[in-house]
Amino acid sequence: MALLKNLTSYIRPLASCSTTTPRFLPLTIRRGLGIPPQYLLDDYTPRYALLTSTDAAKKRSLAYTHLSNCNLCPRKCGVNRFETTGHCLIGAETAKVNVIAPHRGEEPCIQGFHGSGSVFFSGCNLRCVFCQNHDIAHKRNGFDLTPEELAEWYMKLQDMGHVHNINLVTPEHVVPQVVLSILAARDMGLRIPIVYNTSSFDSLESLELLDGLVDIYLPDFKVWKSETSKRLLKADDYAETARESIKAMHEQVGDLSFTSDGIAKKGVLLRHLVMPGKEDEGREIMRWLAENVSKDLYVHIMEQYRPDAHVGKKRRVSRKRGTGDGEEEVEEVRYAEINRAVKDKELGSVKEAAVEAGLWRFCEANEKSLFHL
Ligand code: SF4
Repeated sequence: MALLKNLTSYIRPLASCSTTTPRFLPLTIRRGLGIPPQYLLDDYTPRYALLTSTDAAKKRSLAYTHLSNCNLCPRKCGVNRFETTGHCLIGAETAKVNVIAPHRGEEPCIQGFHGSGSVFFSGCNLRCVFCQNHDIAHKRNGFDLTPEELAEWYMKLQDMGHVHNINLVTPEHVVPQVVLSILAARDMGLRIPIVYNTSSFDSLESLELLDGLVDIYLPDFKVWKSETSKRLLKADDYAETARESIKAMHEQVGDLSFTSDGIAKKGVLLRHLVMPGKEDEGREIMRWLAENVSKDLYVHIMEQYRPDAHVGKKRRVSRKRGTGDGEEEVEEVRYAEINRAVKDKELGSVKEAAVEAGLWRFCEANEKSLFHL
């Protein structure tokens, strides 16, 4: 548990401020960014705080039922996770966690002034060949925590880290544990919003279980074509699943809304990472979002793709000789088609398609270096 102990010492210096004076913390200033009135909230109470005790008990019981016949993601393994594991290789009693810490690498409206209370879960139900967190997602490095232990960490993030939200990163395969942890934290006094930070490879059953517990959905819509998702994400039905999931998320929480300090409290923040040579798919995604989800959807078109994980790795393969019989060994670069950064032209093309489709709420800095809300 060395890592978790280190995290405690990381959070502790902030904690000492909370009981005396907050003068060492950055002042919470109001950003004069002109939030459109329809997305401005006077105040906000997290959805989990409004659940009745009967609804909370039903969710607890449903979480255990799902674990004993797991259909919580589109892999639909149907296994009893108390006895064995499915495709994600994670059991029932605990979730594997790699890092828990206040995080300042998110969108300004999510990370705010004090950071987003991020919990990076290990393991994943996708196998993206370009995964930028592959040591966590593919190798499942981390510590096993029960839902109650997770809840205690949420409380530390809130009370000592003063974070703006609890940000559950890659939680699709541990939704029951997450549900139980939120309900436990609610009983311990949690009062900040829950962010569900997902690849969108979620099942509708899973999203139904989360309804009433999550305030902000942060779905990624990665690729549009099934041949691309089969090759690069190792899932044939990714786009179809993402379409269903994102619609269901939007039906639950609507468009992204903020309190007057510019911090997001409720709604959907959609991410799309533009991939090299895949700008046509990005354009298709933007059109679909505008026509089928909402033209008022808050969208972050991301440009930070870089080759990682399996991309660009060399391997030796056998190939038939051009003339005559026999084979020869040659070196090949894996996934060579995405072994480069994204060009400005590709990024611009996706942004242009988004505007043409009628989307207008983008996570990007304006001419005064202030972020649009
Ligand atoms: S979460 Fe998905 S991958 Fe894991 S056991 Fe359940 S259905 Fe299978």
